[in-house]
Formats: sequence, C-alpha cells, structure tokens
Amino acid sequence: MTREEQFSRLVMAAEPRPFWLDQPGAPPAREPLRGTAAADLVVIGGGFTGLWTALLAKESDPERSVVLVEGHRVGWAASGRNGGFCDASLTHGTANGRKRFPAEFATLQRLGAENLDAIQIAVDRHDIDCEFERTGSIAVATEEYQVDGLRAAADNGDGIFLDTAVMRTEVHSPTYLAGLWDQQGAAMVQPARLAWGLAAACERLGVRICEGTPVTGLAGDADGVTVRATSSTTTGSPETTGSCGVATTPSTTSVVASAPPTTSGRPPSPPSRRTSSPRSRSWKGSGSATAGAA
Ligand SMILES: Cc1cc2nc3c(=O)[nH]c(=O)nc-3n(C[C@H](O)[C@H](O)[C@H](O)COP(=O)(O)OP(=O)(O)OC[C@H]3O[C@@H](n4cnc5c(N)ncnc54)[C@H](O)[C@@H]3O)c2cc1C
Repeated sequence: MTREEQFSRLVMAAEPRPFWLDQPGAPPAREPLRGTAAADLVVIGGGFTGLWTALLAKESDPERSVVLVEGHRVGWAASGRNGGFCDASLTHGTANGRKRFPAEFATLQRLGAENLDAIQIAVDRHDIDCEFERTGSIAVATEEYQVDGLRAAADNGDGIFLDTAVMRTEVHSPTYLAGLWDQQGAAMVQPARLAWGLAAACERLGVRICEGTPVTGLAGDADGVTVRATSSTTTGSPETTGSCGVATTPSTTSVVASAPPTTSGRPPSPPSRRTSSPRSRSWKGSGSATAGAA
C-alpha cells in the first residue's frame, strides 16, 4: 500500500468529532424537559446567545425564573465548534467599519471594547475555566503593497506597527513582511469550555437547563406563550425579548429563541394549528408542551 493510500485509509476511518467538544471534562447530559414547566423566561437554544441571555436575565433579576431548552446538547452547535477568536470588533475589522459605518464607527468600537471587557469580567466572576487569554491579534502583510496599509492603520491608532524583524520575532515565517498588533482587541477562548462554564454558572444562579428538548412550536395568547417541545411543555412570563427568532406576547411572557432552525438542520416547519379556543391551542407534531404564563 502506498503512503497516500495509508493516509487515505486513516482519514476515512477517523471519526469526525469537533476538537473542542471532544475533551475530558465534558459535562454529562442534562435531563430533557418532561411534562409541563412554568417560567418567567423561556430561552430556546443553548449556544452562546441563549446561555448569555439566561445568565444576564438571572443576574439582573435573581427572582426571575428561567428555563433554557436545548434541542441537543449545550454548546453542541456553532458555539462549541468555532475558531475560539473572541474579537472586540463589531464590524469585522476597523477598515470595514470605517468604510461602512463612518458616522457610528467610534460608538461601535467603544461598544465592542466594552463587550469584550464584559465577557472577560463575567468569565472571571463566574470562575469559568475556558482558557480565556487576552492575546490581542496581529494582522500580517504577506505582500509588499500591504505594508504601507498596516503602517497607516497604526498611525490611525489601530495597533502597533511591527516591521519585518520584529514581526518575525513573534512568528518566524519568511512570508510575513510586517504586522499590525492590536494588543487589546481580541482574546482566545476554548469555546466548548466557555459554553459548558456558562451553563454551569446559569445553573448555580438557578436557571433550569433541559437538554435533548427540541422546540417544535410557539404560540401566544393573553395568558402568555406556549413553547411546544418534543415530549415536554414550558411556560413563560413577563416582558418581550428577542434575538434570532422571538415570540412576544401581549401580556407577560418572554421567550427568547436563540436557536436558528431545528437540530436536524432542517428549517423549522411552520406550526399548523388546530384551534378551538385560546386555551386549547395545539400543534401537530411529535411533542406535547405548553409555555404559558400567569
Ligand atoms: C466553523 C465556525 C467557526 C467560527 N469561528 C468563530 C470565531 O472564531 N469567533 C467568533 O466570534 N465566532 C465564530 N463563529 C461564529 C460563532 O460560533 C456563532 O456566531 C455563535 O456560536 C452563535 O451562537 P448561537 O447561540 O447564536 O448559535 P448556536 O451555537 O448554533 O446555538 C444554537 C443552539 O440552538 C439549538 N437549537 C436549534 N434549534 C432548536 C430547537 N428547535 N429547539 C431547541 N434548541 C434548538 C441548537 O441545538 C444549538 O445548540 C464561527 C462559526 C463557525 C460555524
């Protein structure tokens, strides 16, 4: 067998598992939601969006009851398998931000910096072991014509200019001709550990987290919002919130849907109702559940 064939066999036999998630210390699976539960706030999806939402909601009002329902496992999706770059920039870089949002750029930069600081403070406050390190980031020039651009960016206050010699003391690559080091604007993180740590922090504050609980439908009436999940039911209350997909209510229920489509990767089916009265709303589907509110 040739080396190529050997290599090919090894690759074919490898099990595709995300590196960050495939680590010792991964938490055991949490119980799915069974039956009916009532909460002031129901968060759908246990990625960063949902976990931060649940954590901040509980921190801002410890009396608020919060249930987070996750279709699969906390941190299982994009949040636990990303690059681990925690960047302050809200505009994907300063050049892009200045170009597209010239009037708001300074504000966006300030908010982004405050956000990264707040993440670091929260990681410290909750003692989350996620290898958070405020490394900063270095943009590199690999072509001569890019060097002046980095120098100009440094003159603009975007970082420290590194000439070839200094750049190569940082990364000894013959292809790096210069660098721009933004020392404060980025951190590195083990993203799965961040998600697991956020979930543990949520639970310490009293958030109930249910894994293996895919939501299959939402409905609202005067009493609140019903979140229908496979084999389970949750009930929510006050306010109106939202991120990627949100259910709001005329009265008092909050549901934050941080989850995009379904865990199967298919877009969610629109709920089909068979309604007779507001209290007997229901959807076709595999589940039984309610999230209503008092
Ligand atoms: C390959 C890759 C690399 C990336 N690198 C970076 C990076 O370096 N830095 C960076 O800042 N960003 C990066 N990102 C983006 C970042 O990971 C995402 O923006 C972030 O994780 C999104 O978090 P989320 O909570 O919104 O979504 P997700 O992490 O996808 O979480 C959504 C959760 O909702 C659950 N869910 C879905 N449907 C339902 C349902 N019906 N009922 C219940 N639960 C449901 C899912 O199971 C999932 O756990 C990267 C993304 C990818 C894919």
